[in-house]
Amino acid sequence: MKALAKTKRAKGFELIDAPVPKVGAGEVLVKVRYASICGSDVHLYEWAPWMAEHMKEIPRIVGHETSGEVVAIGEGVKEVQVGDFVVLETHIACGSCYQCRTERMHVCRNLKILGFDVDGSFAEFVKVPARNCWKVPPSIPKEWASLMEPMGNAVDTVLAEPVAGQRIAILGCGPIGLMGIAIAKACGATLVIASEPHPLRRELAQKMGADIVVNPKEQDLVEVVMVETKGDGVDAVAEMSGNPNAFLQAFEIVTPGGWIAWLGLLNQPVIFNPSDVIMKAVRIHGITGRKMFSTWEMVTRLLTSGKVDLDPLITHRFPLANFEDAFESIINHQAIKVVFELS
Ligand code: NAD
Ligand code: ZN
Repeated sequence: MKALAKTKRAKGFELIDAPVPKVGAGEVLVKVRYASICGSDVHLYEWAPWMAEHMKEIPRIVGHETSGEVVAIGEGVKEVQVGDFVVLETHIACGSCYQCRTERMHVCRNLKILGFDVDGSFAEFVKVPARNCWKVPPSIPKEWASLMEPMGNAVDTVLAEPVAGQRIAILGCGPIGLMGIAIAKACGATLVIASEPHPLRRELAQKMGADIVVNPKEQDLVEVVMVETKGDGVDAVAEMSGNPNAFLQAFEIVTPGGWIAWLGLLNQPVIFNPSDVIMKAVRIHGITGRKMFSTWEMVTRLLTSGKVDLDPLITHRFPLANFEDAFESIINHQAIKVVFELS
């Protein structure tokens, strides 16, 4: 089969011929239909130092945001059948550590990541444990299915606490922040303020339903928030940029007794004064991955309800062979979400 792999400890990927994986007990073979590019795939493509440090084995087939059809099942598999159309949870949990056994599988201590620790899905076929398959109802467009994985990150961040009737700021309108805007509106947030420096992404923020869109490079976000909330500050902040300035602004714009959810990964340590959190009695939520599988259920319901539209986010489609153009379109800020069309 054709597959995209990291073959050298340097920038770039290579299209290789690899054997079709053989399924063992409890495993499933998926014929990949659509696979989308995540920001972390771009870091891997560019061979960012922190990626280089953590990636142990090479060659490695990359890619993890995946949808496709189940074409073979191993012994004992009951979760799915041949012919099911599924999206994959990309975090492979061990199922036996303390976290896994206490309903916190998303922070499994022996977590393996598809396309990083094990071979991934920018390939014609991918093998995963059956538990990692989530059936996609026919009412959800197939092209959207692989986006359900990052949408799970958005759900866990924006809905870290109930948002109905609340005023929320979303900092960073990458694909996940943009989904976060639509989720917050669908779940009843009465004011969504989005902050994003990039013009195309600000335009999309509006399309996804943001009430106010701010350019933090030219406007004073704190001032805008205070004017819009009559000096109260927002009830909630979803930090989805990974930018240190945005990270620090969250403490200024959150109302006393409100909450902040951190999703954005910071490349460097940030100095902040814990008193800003303590004295304002702010609740902080660290968000990682997706809860297995309550988050998936929520994502499915939001999409089947028709309240969240992912079409505006899929800006580019490529065959796997044109992977270089695909990655460059994200690096050059032309694309939001890029989908590889496979079978
Ligand atoms: P992205 O990089 O596409 O989006 C980040 C956005 O923040 C960009 O559009 C950027 O222009 C914007 N930004 C930069 N500086 C800003 C500022 N000062 N104020 C407001 N916005 C600013 O990433 P994404 O794929 O949407 O993911 C969002 C973040 O979540 C990233 O940091 C990513 O690494 C992280 N992430 C975390 C997890 C997790 O499990 N915790 C999972 C996926 C992604
Ligand atoms: Zn575990």
